[in-house]
Amino acid sequence: MRLFNTLTRRKEEFVPIEEGKVRMYVCGPTVYNLIHIGNARPMIVFDTVRRYMEYKGYEVNYVSNFTDVDDKIIKKAIEEGISADEVSKRYIEECKKDMDGMNVKPATTHPLATQEIDGMIDMISSLIEKGHAYAAEDGTVYFRVSSFNEYGKLSHKNLDDLQSGFRALQVSGEDQKEDPMDFVLWKPKKEGEPSWPSPWCDGRPGWHIECSVMSRKYLGDEIDIHAGGEDLIFPHHENEIAQSECCNEKTFARYWMHNAFLNIDNHKMSKSLGNFRTVREISAQYDLQVLRLFMLSAHYRSPLNFSADLMESSKSALERIVEGVRRLNDRAAASSTAELTEDEKAALAEAEKFTKAFEEAMDDDFNTADALAAVFDLVKFANTKVTEESSSAFAEALKKQLITLTDVLGLIVEKEEEILDDEIERLIEERQAARKAKNFARADEIRNELLEKGIILKDTREGVKWQRA
Ligand code: AMP
Ligand code: ZN
Repeated sequence: MRLFNTLTRRKEEFVPIEEGKVRMYVCGPTVYNLIHIGNARPMIVFDTVRRYMEYKGYEVNYVSNFTDVDDKIIKKAIEEGISADEVSKRYIEECKKDMDGMNVKPATTHPLATQEIDGMIDMISSLIEKGHAYAAEDGTVYFRVSSFNEYGKLSHKNLDDLQSGFRALQVSGEDQKEDPMDFVLWKPKKEGEPSWPSPWCDGRPGWHIECSVMSRKYLGDEIDIHAGGEDLIFPHHENEIAQSECCNEKTFARYWMHNAFLNIDNHKMSKSLGNFRTVREISAQYDLQVLRLFMLSAHYRSPLNFSADLMESSKSALERIVEGVRRLNDRAAASSTAELTEDEKAALAEAEKFTKAFEEAMDDDFNTADALAAVFDLVKFANTKVTEESSSAFAEALKKQLITLTDVLGLIVEKEEEILDDEIERLIEERQAARKAKNFARADEIRNELLEKGIILKDTREGVKWQRA
């Protein structure tokens, strides 16, 4: 498996620190609003990386944080007259709903910045002790960039260029910094803001220190993959490297992966342009599996343009797979022969080429666009090879092969068959009979079975009524 490493700017063979295991950290969203479709890109892309690694047999420890203390959260709390904590809790819940809709697996751990303050204070103290950080008079703690001579190695920036750039940008009030490049690790509290006591002042952590601390706590000093959107390369990830490597005296992450940006109708998505789209808005119009397929239809390092046309073509592409699976299910159920024929065995052996093409694409820096093409080829193959004469084993084997691949992409392509009204009526009658016979266990079982299929029962005076959820 080869992946592009931002650190070396090359595709490299993936070699984990510990055989069979992957330690992976993905910077998560700041939770002050519903997530937008730009935020959804790293979620879908790196969830797919994780799924492919799991498919290859790796045990993946996947950590992704929620930044739940930040200026934007505080601003929103003031606007709404509620606490910052209420704002972040609300949007973490909403984010999890969207992730679920996009079939993004929950991380092994989703740490919250506000629950990790002690660890941040420890790391900052240790950086001060080692001479990599200093506290200014007002209690602000800064990282001393000049103390780390590898600063700039991820973003491939030269320290001298950076220094002159920063000098030009220097803002008044920052003169307590030793050097304009130095960045904040801890800042004093302002009135009405959440704060924690620390050896330097009551205050709150800077953004970058969060990830260094949470990554170390849940994955160890040295990890395999650190990932996020490309806007995070500088300064966020560069600063994380500086903090972690100076504190732990080890390489922080071996591979750095960054997704390119998602634009809308060829424009950058921004509040001022008013072209923001939330995942929630998209879900009102489309099954979120369509959004997932759309995101995977391009390579993750290529910019991707969101448009109504592309969403429509993703919708029909998804339908093609769903229809293919439905047809295989129907054929398997209707077939009168169970056993594979010799021809079918040969066809299954031939179909292996699609799995091989899929793996080759994914092994080449997660080329999901080509992997999807292999899935469509397999659908086409199944559509032509499976006929009314086919055995159920043949239809089932092709379906299994197809579902294995779509599962790696995290695409849900098998829809629950709708339960028909007659079947519902029959089950309700059976439930009534069970109740009469005082077999309440069976009666409950039927109620739950129906509930799982989205049918809600209501016991009324006029008898049992039902409705679809
Ligand atoms: P934020 O909440 O801004 O910290 O962003 C959370 C994640 O979403 C980060 O990995 C960002 O790089 C990523 N992200 C934000 N906007 C976009 C976009 N338009 N396209 C792709 N990724 C984005
Ligand atoms: Zn981060």
